[in-house]
Amino acid sequence: MTPDNEVRFRACLDDVAAYKPGRPPARTDGRPTYKLSSNENPYPPLPGVLAAATEAAAQMNRYPDMGCVELLEALSARFGVPVSDLAVGTGSVALLYHLLQATVSEGDEVVYAWRSFEAYPIAVQLTGATSVQVPLTADARHDFKAMEAAITERTKVVLVCTPNNPTGPVVRRNELLAFLDVVPSNVLVVVDEAYREFVRETEVVDGVELYRERPNVLVLRTFSKAYGLAGFRVGYAIGHPEVVGAIRKCALPFGVSYVAQAAAIASLAVEEELLERVDALVVERARVVGALRAAGWDVPESETNFVWLELGDDTVKFAEAVQAEGVSVRPFPGDGVRVTIGESEANDLFLGVARAWRQ
Ligand code: PMP
Repeated sequence: MTPDNEVRFRACLDDVAAYKPGRPPARTDGRPTYKLSSNENPYPPLPGVLAAATEAAAQMNRYPDMGCVELLEALSARFGVPVSDLAVGTGSVALLYHLLQATVSEGDEVVYAWRSFEAYPIAVQLTGATSVQVPLTADARHDFKAMEAAITERTKVVLVCTPNNPTGPVVRRNELLAFLDVVPSNVLVVVDEAYREFVRETEVVDGVELYRERPNVLVLRTFSKAYGLAGFRVGYAIGHPEVVGAIRKCALPFGVSYVAQAAAIASLAVEEELLERVDALVVERARVVGALRAAGWDVPESETNFVWLELGDDTVKFAEAVQAEGVSVRPFPGDGVRVTIGESEANDLFLGVARAWRQ
């Protein structure tokens, strides 16, 4: 290992060591604990999805379909895009890793807003490329003027997380289109729409429409959030065949299990019911945001299944206070806390702490 690689390797290990899975510790008084730290869907699986996964599990002695043919066909029918423009992977985060592996290396730059999805700096670092992080605006939105200024001849990829994790706002149609107009056509723009189904703002571009007009756009989506399959790890990418082909080449063979493929196909078949649950979470989101604002919190507009509280140096203390109520949330030390919209009783426990904090 060269000294440079060694330093990078150590830094990666440090990142991994700092990661603490957000499981709330069991309570000694026997009261339930809740997990609002990973933007998961609080609903249990629908019976049809569980049955499809269970049936698929009976074939565990066999490798899954490496080409994910049936799932790709189901996605193709659902979105009206050819199979050649689709890739599925072990969660959308794997697709991002594969894409970066295929497109960037040492000396290249990847531009994205910060703060944004925690996986971005790690994924970039693993390729040897350099992250160029552009601070969000004061209202937690992408600063596209600054992002435009950050693009150099070394920029190969730009990541746009919309809506943005962990802050919540969605990128508006006009700002995204204006930005794409100024991005050089040889720079790939990854539009990460992990929370797309939770968006209710109408002035937005749909990634599926966007990629058709812009060959340098790749859209990432996931079954983890709205569809409630976080534990099975299925994501998909929509883009032009050349980009999608590069991702497929880098994918691990048999990366998406047979159970995951079956559950994703079954989820598309009952999508209407799953999206009704998303509607209910959006209603709950409005309740939580309304209660926080009424208590004096300055909460950015959330188009996701979580809310963001800027807490600066109080971040860890606040997260610990919520944890003491049996609810785990995700602290970003020195910055803020991200809280998933979960079961209403869990949201109420969190709101209780948030209200008391303001008094
Ligand atoms: N993108 C964003 C913005 C996310 O928040 C997440 C999950 N937290 C992902 C991608 C990855 O989702 P998955 O790998 O579960 O599909």
